[in-house]
Amino acid sequence: MTTVEEVILKAKDLADAAGKKTGDLVQLGKLKLEASETERAISLQLEKIGRLVYAAHKSGESVEEQLGEPYAALEQLEQKLAQINDAMDELRCTKHCNACGQNNAANAAYCQNCGEKL
Ligand SMILES: [Zn+2]
Repeated sequence: MTTVEEVILKAKDLADAAGKKTGDLVQLGKLKLEASETERAISLQLEKIGRLVYAAHKSGESVEEQLGEPYAALEQLEQKLAQINDAMDELRCTKHCNACGQNNAANAAYCQNCGEKL
């Protein structure tokens, strides 16, 4: 192989790597946005549950059956957030700690912030 061919191939490899990198960053930005929207939705559900429980406390009436729907919605949102965090981990080559939110190295066994097993 001539040197010129090598240089062209090398340049093509670098361009491919750069393209992938930019795509990853765009994807990461979308995921971050989706994560913060999901976190906001989780807060809203928690607020809803809190209002129902407090209303029950004040009135002395049971709201147990009214809680089924917000509990289910909350569980779905938490699952969605975990999936988004997993996808971001993959892009960043990191491991997200579910206990404290710290990003750790992909090969870490324990969280470097709180010591949680990853
Ligand atoms: Zn942690």
